[in-house]
Amino acid sequence: MQRLERNWNTAIERIKTWARTNSPWVVHFNSGSCNGCDIEILAALTPRYDLERFGVELHGSPRHADVLICTGPVTRQARDRLLRIYEQMPEPKFVVAIGSCAISGGVFQGCYNIVGHIDEVIPVDVYVPGCPPRPEAIIDGVVKLLGKLRPSPKPVIEEPAG
Ligand code: SF4
Repeated sequence: MQRLERNWNTAIERIKTWARTNSPWVVHFNSGSCNGCDIEILAALTPRYDLERFGVELHGSPRHADVLICTGPVTRQARDRLLRIYEQMPEPKFVVAIGSCAISGGVFQGCYNIVGHIDEVIPVDVYVPGCPPRPEAIIDGVVKLLGKLRPSPKPVIEEPAG
């Protein structure tokens, strides 16, 4: 009975991973960007670049999202909101930092109203550099994240020769 339950749980987890890697739901938050990176994210979602071909869907609520896409440095005003959005996402959750400002503060480094960059507030899984990064770079970052989410194949143990 226990074995059956364990197999059932494993099957459910596999289905969840399959669904997550084939159709990740994304929420986008601008924590202080100049909007340059945000425009490139929108461009990546248009039919010209077609980020949706990977099953990626932009959603309005963090409660339904697997991935948080962040742009900009973190301002004093946005810090608590960024934390609250991250906490509202269900586990497992992943973060992609888009643009130099999200990665290091960029041109806003040292400004009086900036508390830091994204990974000083929440953990980041993938970084996409650029000011702003082109849509192709954003797509590359998302694809790298999907690669990380896929379970690695079981290692092949070779029999000793002879
Ligand atoms: S990385 Fe460049 S485009 Fe993106 S928010 Fe910073 S200044 Fe703007």
